[in-house]
Amino acid sequence: MTFSVHGLAVSRGIAIGRAVLVASSRADVAHYFVDASKTDDEIMRVRVARNAVIDEITRIKLDLPKDAPHELAALLDVHLMLLQDEQLITGVKHWISDRHYNAEWALTTQYELIARQFDDMEDEYLRERKADLEQVVERILRRMRGVASPMQPLRQAGASRKESRQGLLLDDIEDVPLVLVAHDISPADMLQFKQSLFAGFVTDVGGKTSHTAIVARSLDIPAVVGARSASQLIKQDDWVIIDGDAGVLIVDPSSIILAEYGFKQRQGELERERLNRLRHTPAMTIDGQRVELLANIEMPGDTPGALAAGAVGVGLFRSEFLFMGRESQGLGKLPDEEEQYLAYCKAIDGMQGLPVTIRTVDIGSDKPLDKLAGKAQDGHLNPALGLRAIRWSLADPPMFLTQLRAILRAAAHGRVNLLVPMLVHASEIRQTLSLLDHARAELDNRGVPYGPVQLGAMIEIPAAALTLKLFLRYFDFLSIGTNDLIQYTLAIDRADESVAHLYDPCHPAVLRLIADTIAECNAQGKGVSVCGEMAGDVTMTRLLLGLGLRSFSMHPSQILAVKQQILRADAGKLKSWAARVLASDDPAALLQSA
Ligand code: PEP
Ligand code: MG
Repeated sequence: MTFSVHGLAVSRGIAIGRAVLVASSRADVAHYFVDASKTDDEIMRVRVARNAVIDEITRIKLDLPKDAPHELAALLDVHLMLLQDEQLITGVKHWISDRHYNAEWALTTQYELIARQFDDMEDEYLRERKADLEQVVERILRRMRGVASPMQPLRQAGASRKESRQGLLLDDIEDVPLVLVAHDISPADMLQFKQSLFAGFVTDVGGKTSHTAIVARSLDIPAVVGARSASQLIKQDDWVIIDGDAGVLIVDPSSIILAEYGFKQRQGELERERLNRLRHTPAMTIDGQRVELLANIEMPGDTPGALAAGAVGVGLFRSEFLFMGRESQGLGKLPDEEEQYLAYCKAIDGMQGLPVTIRTVDIGSDKPLDKLAGKAQDGHLNPALGLRAIRWSLADPPMFLTQLRAILRAAAHGRVNLLVPMLVHASEIRQTLSLLDHARAELDNRGVPYGPVQLGAMIEIPAAALTLKLFLRYFDFLSIGTNDLIQYTLAIDRADESVAHLYDPCHPAVLRLIADTIAECNAQGKGVSVCGEMAGDVTMTRLLLGLGLRSFSMHPSQILAVKQQILRADAGKLKSWAARVLASDDPAALLQSA
């Protein structure tokens, strides 16, 4: 039966595909297709791992001391029984043979199916066996981690998204597009899906500017977050339409609805093709005002996409993504100076002489270092107000110095701006600058070359926007982080879907802080940019132009649509209109009527 679920529109476009339910805790499991000729080997990989776990548990059971509580032996028996469960074995085989899922993906998919059945059981004892099944699956996954799949993933980077959509009509299982449905996905795990095959994303939780949503947007495929109980309502393999423009999901759609959305999908693709023609057009308003369109990136590998979209530089490299989710990938806890240096150099080389703004690490809040640290942070009542961004860096000077040295060294290879997040106190500014001097002195002592950097501060806390003169005394440029500026001005958690309706970029207080920051920088001849999601929101482009902004930094996928707005705008005329919007009690109404 067809039904719809409403959430928050995050990334435009329509995706139509079969649901793949992924438990939050399993998002870091590899997802790819294996070649049809190799499915037997893949099944063997699970079998070998499962047999090894059976041996392991059998050994543990044999070695139990005589006086061990008998519940322990009974528990091990349950685990052995689950390992030989027919439903688990045949299910895994099905996902591999018929769907060509890789072993880990097949195992976790089958686990989630069985876990749901456990959830529905009346009997409490049986319901609790879900935890045992989880432990057993975890053991098999751990075994398999040591034995990587011998084959190359068949499909990467959404390579066949277009052909997959046609697969819907052909009903060829291999070509059926897949959409990922999860309760929640951490930003780091979402980043892993950058190289994956999903045609769209849905999560139960999250706000429009949560970091998970931001990364989903950077994938440039339809996504809806904050869809409340979507992961409960949607079943594995259900057909789902994701309308990323309206923030709606349609589950089990009728053929008429499918046809309608198929049409919308093609319209969207045509619109994108039209926009693509603007790639080489300079961003200039009708009255000849040049506007700088920069890219936000998470990883050095994002630079080709930035260049392809016509970005004239990187306005925000969120360096924290080099620091996050490392444990699940078996990497060291933090990237050392050399690793960071190479990553920054890669971004600089990738931009082929264009400037790169590297923001120092912004860990904390909804960007935990790893899942465990995330849990620890949850213990704090207000992680967004806690040890985050520059506060985290200043709390660990050796870590911060390592990053500063890496950035300074990379600056010897190209134009680098160094941007500092979440500053608010004069003391933090002074400590940061003194550590920067210290990092230079360390490099001098080591005789290592480094380059000059332009120094910038993020304006993303109202207190910073209210003390601009202080900031402009120390910094060469400012970058307005509207995502946090809105969160902290309105006291609305940007990642909480239950208050997402109050997260208002057009609130007069927010607009006032943005307008003042732009005006003060322009008056002092200092650079100013917006690098929050507002910069990529086409409904805000004219207002920001009218307020005097000439530098926008956004995910590459939004650049051409924003450029289209700029090409149609007369910045001179927008000035008085922007002043009226600013003075209004209801700016959103004026924006809509413009
Ligand atoms: C912002 O707050 O607007 C910003 C760009 O930083 P982040 O989204 O990474 O917090
Ligand atoms: Mg921020």
